[in-house]
Amino acid sequence: MLTDARLHEPGGPFIEYVNSAFELHMGYLATELIGQSPLLFNGVETDISVYKKIRANLKKGKAIRTEILHYTKDNQTRWLDMSVTPLRTDSGEISHFAFVARDITRHKNIERQLTTLALFDSLTGALNRPAFHQQAEKEYARSKRYSRPLSVIMLDIDHFKQVNDRYGHPAGDQVLQIFAEACQEVIRSTDLMGRIGGEEFAILLPDTPSKSALYLAERLRLRINKYPYLAGDMLIEVTASLGVAELQSSDADFKALLQRADEALYAAKHGGRNRVKLAA
Ligand code: GH3
Ligand code: MG
Ligand code: MG
Repeated sequence: MLTDARLHEPGGPFIEYVNSAFELHMGYLATELIGQSPLLFNGVETDISVYKKIRANLKKGKAIRTEILHYTKDNQTRWLDMSVTPLRTDSGEISHFAFVARDITRHKNIERQLTTLALFDSLTGALNRPAFHQQAEKEYARSKRYSRPLSVIMLDIDHFKQVNDRYGHPAGDQVLQIFAEACQEVIRSTDLMGRIGGEEFAILLPDTPSKSALYLAERLRLRINKYPYLAGDMLIEVTASLGVAELQSSDADFKALLQRADEALYAAKHGGRNRVKLAA
């Protein structure tokens, strides 16, 4: 695509030429585009700061290469790797801007899938262990810095080995999925749930003191056991034990907090399972 150099006019610069690949890609005929502003290709999810960055560079007469999200005529999104270069006359004046772009939509979608794969457990949709720890460390630092409360709940399904033994491993997998869904239903969107082990989960509760965390843990316990889980054509009763801990100044790091929640979970198991315990 070529535009004129009228950057300073409202809506400018204006399109003077597009090649046939551009027409095909964006779904417009050249005749529909000549005289229009390239703003036409922006849509709700286009990052305005990218657009501003392009303009700022062009105003200085500098070339720029960037990734940008464009919208086709029928409102499909396209990721572009785009270079914009000022073209100069013999006397050195800028006469046009040349836009050369490569479609990287497929590449971007794969990138997004890889990010999802890298962070989330594929069976339950909870954060995987490393991702949970990474996010939790950030929340821990934030809580320390702003002296905000932070709590964590550790959950472990009771007698899960028996579920596998009695109903089979695939049914066990289904139970894990239903269990995670039930928990997600109860927690807030700002709470972080991670799969820490096979049938062991942790939920991090930012800005939450132990009293509210205990209350939430009890709601979780009741929700987990509210209905039998339908795995295949089998109905399976599930309970879990939960340990709750709130960050204390004596906790040297996030691990120390998690450790205390784990000890509370252990106490809940020994106290007879299907119960909540608060850490000392
Ligand atoms: P407790 O009440 O003391 O927690 O008993 P438990 O049987 O739940 O505890 P244990 O740690 O002995 O057993 C956990 C079982 O979880 C053993 C393992 O085979 C099973 N498990 C771990 N990951 C998965 C998984 O991804 N899918 C299935 N189906 N089972 C899993
Ligand atoms: Mg268990
Ligand atoms: Mg376990």
